[in-house]
Amino acid sequence: MDKLSASKLSAAQSSKGELSAIAGGRPVRDTFLPYARQWIEEDDIAAVSKVLQGDWLTTGPTVGELEKEFATRVGASFAVAVSSGTAALHAACFAAGVGRGDEVITSPLTFVASANCALFLSANPVFADIDPKTYNISPEEIKKKVTSQTRVIIPVHFTGQPCDLDPIHKIARRHNLKVIEDAAHALGAAYKGRSVGGLSDLTIFSFHPVKHITTGEGGMVTTSNKELYQRLLLFRNHGIVRERELMMKDQGPWYYEVQDLGYNYRLTDIQAALGISQLKKLNFFLARRRQIVAIYNEAFANLPEVEVPYQAPYADSSWHLYILTLRLDRLQKSRREIFAALRAENIGVHVHYLPVYRHPFYHRLLGLGNFNPKNFFCPNAEEVYQKIITLPLFPAMTDQDVADVITAVYKVISWARGS
Ligand SMILES: *Cc1c(COP(=O)(O)O)cnc(C)c1O
Repeated sequence: MDKLSASKLSAAQSSKGELSAIAGGRPVRDTFLPYARQWIEEDDIAAVSKVLQGDWLTTGPTVGELEKEFATRVGASFAVAVSSGTAALHAACFAAGVGRGDEVITSPLTFVASANCALFLSANPVFADIDPKTYNISPEEIKKKVTSQTRVIIPVHFTGQPCDLDPIHKIARRHNLKVIEDAAHALGAAYKGRSVGGLSDLTIFSFHPVKHITTGEGGMVTTSNKELYQRLLLFRNHGIVRERELMMKDQGPWYYEVQDLGYNYRLTDIQAALGISQLKKLNFFLARRRQIVAIYNEAFANLPEVEVPYQAPYADSSWHLYILTLRLDRLQKSRREIFAALRAENIGVHVHYLPVYRHPFYHRLLGLGNFNPKNFFCPNAEEVYQKIITLPLFPAMTDQDVADVITAVYKVISWARGS
């Protein structure tokens, strides 16, 4: 696989080019390094071109092929491709039977779509606090939030590290709940040696360009339950049924029935061609991510002002994100100042995530009296949010890019410790 050169990468993401860095001297980099980025090569482009010259543009045989290969890769019986990870969450909640007044338990430390999917179906999101070590939803906290209204648990495999699924499945069995894993970060991850995607009732993935593989926009739901699979297919395509044996009437060969409220959440064959081509490179992408993480971990192990990501013994992470935790008690500067200083070094740091319920829209819902405040506030997520910084991590990073990040972190931390 040919390497994308650093200069090509920089040209694509031009920087604002600070003249002097906040932490002093020249910035470590002249050009901006993003925190994530897709990796598209000639063979990806050729695969898309081929579909463009064929008969099918929208959902056709290439989508079917992607679904089959994807299901095999993650160890599920069925996969349904949809237009985004958000559509996948919506479809999974629909398939699981989520409806008005139901409660859906998820993590506060996630992308907003993990909770919005409950609202899409007039259900209520409930946040269960995170484990302060893994930053994943805590099974103990889930237990505290289960009520007679609860229908679904959506554990989010934050950064790519799988949640502790065994105790979550146990809670679900006891209370007759469905589990939908939000594996948008976790394509290629494993829990106790078993691949994420075939472990719960439903699992969703995202093919946004920052994720492990991309189709531009796109997503996937996997399941090994035939009934859930059929509900997913229905939901993706306006609730339309064409199979004669499933229809209520038969008015002729033109006839189809809308049996439920569905959407147009279809993925195109154009996108699926890119997906198949990208899926072939997944192992390489995962290996390169792991390699970069090993370099980061080694470099930061001796920096007492930061903590490297904790990994649970049951987890084999797919490393979507690399998050440093700042020891603010040992630093003279705030997270905000450290963040700005790293950006001034042209390092595209980020923060994942503001606890979902802190977004103005969720505040508004709370203000309208729509929700119980006790179902929102999560002290561990609040504390973790204050001290985390996401470093750039994507397979197309060069060794020089990785070295630049490390140099910049050392420079900024040394400035921030005030010595
Ligand atoms: C990216 C992401 C989604 C949504 O995926 P889209 O394809 O962008 O709609 C959902 N959940 C998490 C945790 C994500 O990171």
